[in-house]
Amino acid sequence: MVRDAVRAYVKKDISPIIEDYAQRAEFPEQIVIQLGELGCFGPTIPTEYGGGGLDYVSYGLMMQELERGDSGVRSTASVQGSLVMFPIFAFGSEEQKKKYLPKLASGEWLGCFGLTEPNHGSDPASMITNIKDAGDHVILNGAKMWISNAPYSQVAVVWAKDESGVVKGLIVERGMEGFTTPTTHGKWSLRASATGELVFDNVKSS
Ligand SMILES: Cc1cc2nc3c(=O)[nH]c(=O)nc-3n(C[C@H](O)[C@H](O)[C@H](O)COP(=O)(O)OP(=O)(O)OC[C@H]3O[C@@H](n4cnc5c(N)ncnc54)[C@H](O)[C@@H]3O)c2cc1C
Repeated sequence: MVRDAVRAYVKKDISPIIEDYAQRAEFPEQIVIQLGELGCFGPTIPTEYGGGGLDYVSYGLMMQELERGDSGVRSTASVQGSLVMFPIFAFGSEEQKKKYLPKLASGEWLGCFGLTEPNHGSDPASMITNIKDAGDHVILNGAKMWISNAPYSQVAVVWAKDESGVVKGLIVERGMEGFTTPTTHGKWSLRASATGELVFDNVKSS
């Protein structure tokens, strides 16, 4: 049922339009709410947080069907589910889970995951992005590159080094002062996916 539902969606709503979007290098923004309604965002997250409560076989079948239609569309969904919702579910506080997961599951919000940096891809331990302790909050500086969903994201899970060099994860929201998400242009593949940078200029976060 899971596979057939996603296959039918791809046939009806993705295949007829995706070539055009890829040629124009434009993100089909309408898919965010569609993927949420279909249950493709965080299908393994428990239902109490808005997820599908499904197993990983179901998740795999969903992503396989999306990938049949377009790698960029699959990226949008798997980044949201595996790289944004999962870390919030596994490591976030109860308050963070209740605040972010239902909105990400429904497609009301899109999220992104910032690990890769302009000079540090395969070797993320060399990252330069950093946080400095400022009492009840931290100050975040640095930049991330090649970040799927970034230009359309309301929330970003970001990895940064603290003053002792330990890599930590934090949540940054669109609208925080000093946080911008410029779009990456001129990609030769995944052209229908939204890719961008994350720039942090003295962002105050918790
Ligand atoms: C469309 C797109 C979307 C992406 N989305 C995200 C995202 O959402 N979030 C995110 O954090 N990142 C994302 N990335 C970044 C991706 O994870 C990195 O591109 C990847 O980690 C490789 O890093 P790099 O591009 O800096 O290449 P490099 O690390 O510079 O590698 C270049 C080449 O050198 C090889 N190489 C590197 N190190 C070694 C070594 N030690 N030994 C042998 N060979 C080596 C690599 O295999 C590769 O062929 C995305 C990238 C793309 C293209």
